[in-house]
Amino acid sequence: MLAMSAIAPDRIPLVVPDTRLESLAGEVHRTYFSKYPPLPVRWGQQITRKKRRSIRLGSYNHHTTEIRIHPILNAPHVPSIFIMSVIHHEYLHHVLGPHHNRRFHQHERQFQHHREAQEWIRGNLFLLLGRKKNELKRPAPPPAPPQAVQASLF
Ligand SMILES: [Zn+2]
Repeated sequence: MLAMSAIAPDRIPLVVPDTRLESLAGEVHRTYFSKYPPLPVRWGQQITRKKRRSIRLGSYNHHTTEIRIHPILNAPHVPSIFIMSVIHHEYLHHVLGPHHNRRFHQHERQFQHHREAQEWIRGNLFLLLGRKKNELKRPAPPPAPPQAVQASLF
């Protein structure tokens, strides 16, 4: 008999809990936003990998008060302080509203590793976007004709 059969099938978790994101979100909440209830923080849905010109690394939904982090950051080489900086930024939208005004930026700098996080993304954005570094310096290609965009939806 196999040792594995000792585990009842219903005891095997179908989804591995995401302890990394959970613990980083918990740390940001404890350190900076403990006077507010903790917000749900989840990875966004993975969409097909393609070349992009821009990427939204985090989002805050003020209807559901849910924070979503782009799944492209769900990788061991992405430093924890960077993921935390995105969570911190989205928490600030919960507290301060949608605008990136002076007050928002002042609060943003209160994140302990703010500068370090900014430096990391400056050096690694091209990797996240699936591009070679020098590609980003080229002028933007003309937008695809509507027909081509439509075709890609099918
Ligand atoms: Zn923002």
